[in-house]
Parts: sequence; structure tokens; C-alpha cells
Amino acid sequence: MEKVLDIQNLHAAFSIQKKDYEVLHDISFSINRNETVCVVGESGCGKSVTTLCIMQLLPKNGKIQSGSIYVDGTDLTKLSKKEVRKFRGKKMGMIFQEPMTALNPLLTIGFQLRENIINHRGASKKEANAIAIEYLKKVGIANPEQRLKQYPFQLSGGLRQRVLIAMVLSAQPDLLIADEPTTALDVTIQKQVLSLLNDLKKDMNAGILFITHDLGVVAEIADRVVVLYAGRKVEEGTTHQIFKNPLHPYTIGLMNAVPNVDLDEFEIRPIPGTFPNITEKIDGCRFNPRCPHASSCPKCFETAPEMIEAEPGHFVACHLKK
Ligand code: SF4
Repeated sequence: MEKVLDIQNLHAAFSIQKKDYEVLHDISFSINRNETVCVVGESGCGKSVTTLCIMQLLPKNGKIQSGSIYVDGTDLTKLSKKEVRKFRGKKMGMIFQEPMTALNPLLTIGFQLRENIINHRGASKKEANAIAIEYLKKVGIANPEQRLKQYPFQLSGGLRQRVLIAMVLSAQPDLLIADEPTTALDVTIQKQVLSLLNDLKKDMNAGILFITHDLGVVAEIADRVVVLYAGRKVEEGTTHQIFKNPLHPYTIGLMNAVPNVDLDEFEIRPIPGTFPNITEKIDGCRFNPRCPHASSCPKCFETAPEMIEAEPGHFVACHLKK
């Protein structure tokens, strides 16, 4: 299978008061064409930092310390800023949680779509207009000719997200990165956008990296799942493996924290304790202060667990799974 994204041994840090704090530790995973990989975890686990590393958009105090990020066979960590900018527009597209961060409120939808298509596909203005209409239709927008004349503020949140998806896809990226793209939408629109992304994945022959904290969304859209905790990958597997047989105590905790409406009594079991901040030093496994099994295993407080393959394609980093 052809990999569109291949991250190998990625380490990244933020500098706070002249001291480096690691925010990603030895992250590796890949995405094939026509595959959606969801990266999940609580806020601060490293999901968004991973996307910023891929897009090479880390803030000034952030840096990639080591590792590689291959997109379509090119290691982005070896490119200059100018080369990355060119590459980003052509090969990668990003859908944000709030589409207004990517759409210019002062320009019509049509102008923005056409400019993007002209820049990335070298189309004429007339061709760009036809492609813009084609992509607005693809994302299920009625009367696309009329929509092209409107400004972003004239559209609902769901429509703006569809326009942004049309804009990103019209550049024909190989890798689509979606960072919590449905969080700001109501449930019905959320479902529509997810099913749209599912359909478009087949259509566009791309890979999708989907960042979310919502396991309901994961179940609907993911082929494979990567679970991050405090900047480390703790589990990876197919969606079926992760939901049917979660192995890491943190993944099990995430599952238990989802409201179970099948039970007679509505039940939510949140993960105890608080998420560590990046300046906090924890020896051994980073999850040990919150793990219900840590007290039975002295190694949990001494060494960080290695990632092992528990079953074909299903990986976990936990001393108790060896
Ligand atoms: Fe819990 Fe220990 Fe496994 Fe970490 S290594 S998840 S502390 S049992």
C-alpha cells in the first residue's frame, strides 16, 4: 500500500523561559491512500502539535528536535521554509475546527475558491470557476453559482465548513488533515460532514489524518486509530481492535468516559486525576499517576514502557501487556 504520510520517531519541544520541554516523544505512524487515521486523546496530549509539525506551522517557541515526516516520499523536515510552503499548498490540505480561520471574511466564496484553484492547479479563471462549481456540488451545496457570489458571513457554520472542504479538496491534496472539523457544528450537521468526508476519501484517492477527542466520531470515520497520552503514542490499531479490545489503561479510560446510553442508568466514568502539564516530571510511565494498575507493578514508576505488537497490527505501550 502506498503511504501518503509516514512519521518516524518524531520528537518536538516547546521552549518556556529558555528551557526546552518535550511535547512529542518518539511518535511514529503512517497513513495509506484511501485510509482515515484518527489521532485521539485529551486536550494537551499532542494531537494538534502533531498536525502543526506536519504542516510546519509550529509557533516560534516550538521546534522539531529529531525524526522525519514523509509526505508522498518527501521528508518535510529537510525542506526550506519556502519549499515547505509550496509543498503544503500542493500536497496537503487542512480543515480547521472553525472555518472562519481559513476563509477571508472580506472576499467572496467564489474569489477565494478560484484563487486557490488557479494557484494550485494552474487553471485559467474560467476553468477555475467551473472547478469551483464542481467542488461545491461535490460537497452537497445547492445553487453553487449563487453561493460563489456570497461572503462567508452569509453562510451558516455547516455551509462554511463545506465550502472550506471544497476549497481544500479542489487543490487535489494527497493528504488531508482535519483538526476537530466537526466540534463546532451541531450533531446533525456533524453527521453530514463526516459522511461527506467518508465519501470524498474514496473519490479523491487521498489519505486523511483526523484529529478528535470524540470517540463517537472515531467510530464513524476511522480505519485505524492512534491514541496519544502526554505526547507519547500509547496504543495503535484498527478501529475494530481499539473498540473491541482496547489494551492500554488510558484507552480503556477514554472508552469508559463515553456516556453509556444502553445502560438503565446513564453512566459516565471519567478518568481519575488530572492531565500532566508539559513542565511536570514523571518517572517511568507518564500515565502512572492516573493508572488503576500502577500500584501492582514497580516498573511503572521506574521505566517508560516500550511499544510492543500485542496482535498483528495492534500495538501498545504498557508494562502489564508484555
Ligand atoms: Fe499503567 Fe503501568 Fe501500564 Fe503505565 S505501564 S499504563 S502505569 S500499568
